[in-house]
Amino acid sequence: MLSPINHLPAKNVTILGATGTIGLNTLDVMAQHVDRFNLFAITANANVKGLFALCVNYKPRYAVMLQADAAQELSSQLKAIGSKTIVLHGEESLCYVASHDEVDTVMAAIVGAAGLHPAMAAAKAGKCILLANKETLVLAGNLFMQAVRDGGAILLPIDSEHNAIFQVMPRHQGEHLAIIGVKRIILTASGGPFRNASMAELKTVTRAQALNHPNWVMGPKITVDSASLMNKGLEVIEAHWLFNALPNQIDVIVHPQSIIHSMVEYVDGSVLAQLGNPDMRTPIAYGLGYPERLNSGVSSLDFLTTARLDFTAPDLERFPCLRIAYEALNLGGTGPAILNAVNEIAVEAFLAEKIGFMEIPAMIDAVLSASVIDKVESIEQLEAIDYMARQSAMSWLSCKG
Ligand code: NAD
Ligand code: MG
Repeated sequence: MLSPINHLPAKNVTILGATGTIGLNTLDVMAQHVDRFNLFAITANANVKGLFALCVNYKPRYAVMLQADAAQELSSQLKAIGSKTIVLHGEESLCYVASHDEVDTVMAAIVGAAGLHPAMAAAKAGKCILLANKETLVLAGNLFMQAVRDGGAILLPIDSEHNAIFQVMPRHQGEHLAIIGVKRIILTASGGPFRNASMAELKTVTRAQALNHPNWVMGPKITVDSASLMNKGLEVIEAHWLFNALPNQIDVIVHPQSIIHSMVEYVDGSVLAQLGNPDMRTPIAYGLGYPERLNSGVSSLDFLTTARLDFTAPDLERFPCLRIAYEALNLGGTGPAILNAVNEIAVEAFLAEKIGFMEIPAMIDAVLSASVIDKVESIEQLEAIDYMARQSAMSWLSCKG
């Protein structure tokens, strides 16, 4: 007998950030269900080789590159092999393929604030948005959530923690958590590669050590964020917007095995968790298939091999980024946008070996505490704030010498 899912029409999918780790995992899951999905568009910043290979393998209708010269090169390479894929470039084209009438589902997997406009375009056009790009919510949470509501979009979190919470939380229409019987959200954190490092060791850790995450394979920015626990801080802010949770209703617990992806505690004492092997294809398959379940290719969780699940409190002395992120959320307004912008500059500087690991929180603390916090009014205002925060971060960098 056919399952109900076989009767559904194929969905047209755009993948923003297709050459990244989330993008590639999305293509992997879609390739397991060729009857369920058509690849409408794939995008990348400037990685011609990566996007070319994906165009050859998956034959999307559109391929979009942010950089014009990269798009030009891709276009001539594709023409040379007789490909029918149409190549576009620029941010407007990213928005075009994120909001096109024929698109059903948009995987928002660009890294950083650069993902904001295309994600907003998908929200306004009422798409089903699979949101991996957490920076969009950190930078413009209230405006993005408003655009989702106004546009009639469906927002499905792909970040593994938020996907876990979404799976164990009752569906709600933005009411306060207490009304739906939820006491708190518990975000789990692996603790990253430096979970047991001393303060002295943290000051001298290298780029290569920071990029060596124990449980997850991810792009460089989020891997460094995971090592500093800024990733968890960004996720606290993400949870605030996605689930209408107050800062004091969001707890973080270090769970080194990354088997429990997050939990929801109810007022009656029940705690519901979602578990599985640490593989992003699980939340991606959940988002692609929603509300049905799809095979993802992820292996079964072997409880006997896993054997134990450990928990400790995060150390805010050694990992000040998490404390600063809570502070930014409590400041509200433009605070999280400043946090996000300075963090992007700090991570870039660390990856370029211009600053040490513990200078990441030092830079963010310095710029955030010297900034005036305003009420959020518009995307244009947030863009100006983002720009100014980046400028302040750059001058902190040059003053440091
Ligand atoms: P990545 O660095 O591997 O890939 C980033 C993608 O974005 C690439 O396709 C790149 O070409 C594109 N891109 C980069 N800068 C761009 C720009 N200025 N304009 C347009 N496109 C641009 O990153 P990733 O690990 O796949 O993460 C993507 C997003 O998903 C991030 O926001 C990250 O926080 C989030 N996320 C990732 C994971 C994971 O396991 N990798 C888990 C949870 C959330
Ligand atoms: Mg996560």
